[in-house]
Amino acid sequence: MSVTRFAPSPTGFLHLGHAYAARVARDMASDGGYLLRFEDIDHTRVRSEYYDAARRDLEWLGLQPDRETDAQLGRSDRHGAVLEQLRALEAVYPCYCTRKEVEAEIASMTAAPHGPEGPLYPGTCRRLDPGQLTEFEEMGRQPAWRLDAERVARLTGPLTIHDRRHGEVEVDPGLLGDLVLARKDIGTSYHLAVVVDDADDGITLVTRGEDLLPATHVHRMLQKLLGLPEPEYFHHPLITDETGRRLAKRDDARSIRHYRDQGLRPDEVLTMLPPD
Ligand code: GLU
Repeated sequence: MSVTRFAPSPTGFLHLGHAYAARVARDMASDGGYLLRFEDIDHTRVRSEYYDAARRDLEWLGLQPDRETDAQLGRSDRHGAVLEQLRALEAVYPCYCTRKEVEAEIASMTAAPHGPEGPLYPGTCRRLDPGQLTEFEEMGRQPAWRLDAERVARLTGPLTIHDRRHGEVEVDPGLLGDLVLARKDIGTSYHLAVVVDDADDGITLVTRGEDLLPATHVHRMLQKLLGLPEPEYFHHPLITDETGRRLAKRDDARSIRHYRDQGLRPDEVLTMLPPD
């Protein structure tokens, strides 16, 4: 029994890349096991009209879910409780750096550590002494909470990702460094929310674009640390435009809505997707 989900962020209209992700999730699910979940924790970018627009596009394409599960924004108490658990395990530490400070610190280093997506957090706040911490707390500054990747790797031991396309992938605990698990402004992050919600929704097979494979290294660490079930993964290729650039929300010309407005039929749109 495979339970999958299509998890768009309602920050734009669905495009061909979404249609592909939804089709993969639908095709790999067992009967009744294809869910829709809106990933809307970043309320600074979400707009209300995109929820219904997405539901309508999926229906038009014949990719409507078997069930829609709660959107992430409604789960913030649960995300907060898990952050509390991570704090108790000392798996996260408070970070008071601004983006500018992080950039300046990286620029001043001769060999700043790099990950697949650019420079990693240089660990400034991991080394704060108790005096500095109290000072920040007394100033009432809100911290972000960062993963202590080294400590968590020690706690979890070696891990692997089971991916139906990439095979057995060894988890590299330092791949994304000490990334933010709870942002100052929203109290959570994609990483924390997706791990908790997939477990709560009983997702057994996580299907998503291969751009997220590096993030899965962190997700496996969190699952192990929190005692959550381990899902299987399928990281599918990304749909790109003629120049090889991946599609993004800004590519309005490739939005499902745009094709519909142009008079295309759903099957004509679906044939633009790569075969399985
Ligand atoms: N919300 C993410 C997106 O729209 C998907 C993340 C996931 O499937 O884990 O790209």
